[in-house]
Amino acid sequence: MAAEPVQLNDFTRQWAETGSDVLAAVGEVGSSGWFVLGPQVAAFERMLARVLERAYAIGCGNGMDAIEIGLRALDLKPGQPVLTSPLSAFATTLAIVRAGGVPVFVDVDRHGLLDLDLAEEAFERDAALRFMVPVHLFGHAVDLERLLELRRKFGISIVEDMAQAIGARSGARPVGGCGQLGALSLYPTKNLGAMGDGGAVVTDDPALDRRCRVLRDYGQGAKYEHVELGLNSRLDELHAAILAKAFLPRLAAWNARRAEIAARYDAGICNPGVELLGSPGGSRSVWHLYPVLVPAQRRDHLLEFLRKERILAAVHYPRAIPDQAAMHGTPFTLLTPMPRARELVSREVSLPIHPYLTDREVDRVIQGINAWVSE
Ligand SMILES: *Cc1c(COP(=O)(O)O)cnc(C)c1O
Repeated sequence: MAAEPVQLNDFTRQWAETGSDVLAAVGEVGSSGWFVLGPQVAAFERMLARVLERAYAIGCGNGMDAIEIGLRALDLKPGQPVLTSPLSAFATTLAIVRAGGVPVFVDVDRHGLLDLDLAEEAFERDAALRFMVPVHLFGHAVDLERLLELRRKFGISIVEDMAQAIGARSGARPVGGCGQLGALSLYPTKNLGAMGDGGAVVTDDPALDRRCRVLRDYGQGAKYEHVELGLNSRLDELHAAILAKAFLPRLAAWNARRAEIAARYDAGICNPGVELLGSPGGSRSVWHLYPVLVPAQRRDHLLEFLRKERILAAVHYPRAIPDQAAMHGTPFTLLTPMPRARELVSREVSLPIHPYLTDREVDRVIQGINAWVSE
């Protein structure tokens, strides 16, 4: 019998472990008769804020909305430039555009994170550039000490895109703790995912907390009093209850298991054609993904080889955001060439890493990679 495939995510195993807690949460919401923005959302928000060491968390519809809400809460005005990364989920840039901003891209570093030297030069040169959406990509934390320095030096407004990095730290600081706001996705594949779409904004500022609550709910300041043009981006009671009762209590263990798997890959993978990246200095990563680099012209070969070994792998991301068709005709600035982003889009492969992988499966991935002939 062929081996069971090694999956990129395994929600059936997750259900086997969490299903009874989920069903209890569903029962509670069903019998309460309240389904959107109620006590379950409020309880989840308090719990999430505590876990992320922030004063406030505001549940919303998804991660993309969380970024848009964050930027609008910081008073981004139509046409204002926003510095961000060319290597991310397209949603990062789409949120900036939806908020009325004009994306400004600089290159990434060797780990795929926004290059903060280039960012600093950009702020130095252009006093009109005062917004930034850095991305904690792959589960790595951007250097938060450095980010804080930039924030202070230039007075910039920062929404941290922490969709892939809930629980990560940079030195002693947790992600989401250095921008005015942090934006979180609760999409199922993220380290903390709902059973559907969800998102959240985190902040320490009571005025921003209040503004985000208004923005997520049609811009209502009070019932039927619309003080600005907001979004419909509310979090459901069902998702909030499931997250608070079944998933968030397991997050620390899930993230620890991801780190264990990453360490096993670091130690076990030994193939001259496969470059391991490790985590950036100072980052206590939560390993949303495990990226490696292979020769560009051999990437398809590796993906096919792994498929035959019944190991699923993926590419994050096959195209830099400024090169996406949707950006043609959309105003943006490519401030620097992006050789590193281009290298990553042509060479990156993401190996399976999720908390329900067994050691045997991790070893199968290691053996598969080590058996691959890279030239
Ligand atoms: C998933 C993701 C988003 C968007 O989140 P959604 O909940 O899918 O809208 C934004 N940025 C990054 C880096 C992501 O990984």
